[in-house]
Amino acid sequence: MPLELRPVAEYIRRATTEELLDRVTVYRDDMEPAAVDLMENELWRRGLTRERVTDHATDRRATAVVGADGRVVRCAFCDRPAVTKAWGWRKLFGRIPIFPRVFPRCGSHGPAPAQEAI
Ligand SMILES: [Zn+2]
Repeated sequence: MPLELRPVAEYIRRATTEELLDRVTVYRDDMEPAAVDLMENELWRRGLTRERVTDHATDRRATAVVGADGRVVRCAFCDRPAVTKAWGWRKLFGRIPIFPRVFPRCGSHGPAPAQEAI
């Protein structure tokens, strides 16, 4: 299936620099090469250097949760790389707690105090 460049280009224009850095580093193998090229070009346009991209990759690999398949695990609540795993509630319709389970979490979605007490 050919890559539709228009939606990708629109995403890239709206994406934060951190999102683009994550995609061209830790999620690179999951993406089409053409999308990676577009994202790298956007990073260069924003003034980032290859050294900055390499530093980001090094930082992410040092802190990210890596799955059994060797890939960086995504946060259960957003697209950022998970940096920890913590208990939380699986919720029905996103509201009614059903059962506790461990979720991979990024730095922004780290464990809430009430969720750690499970
Ligand atoms: Zn998150």
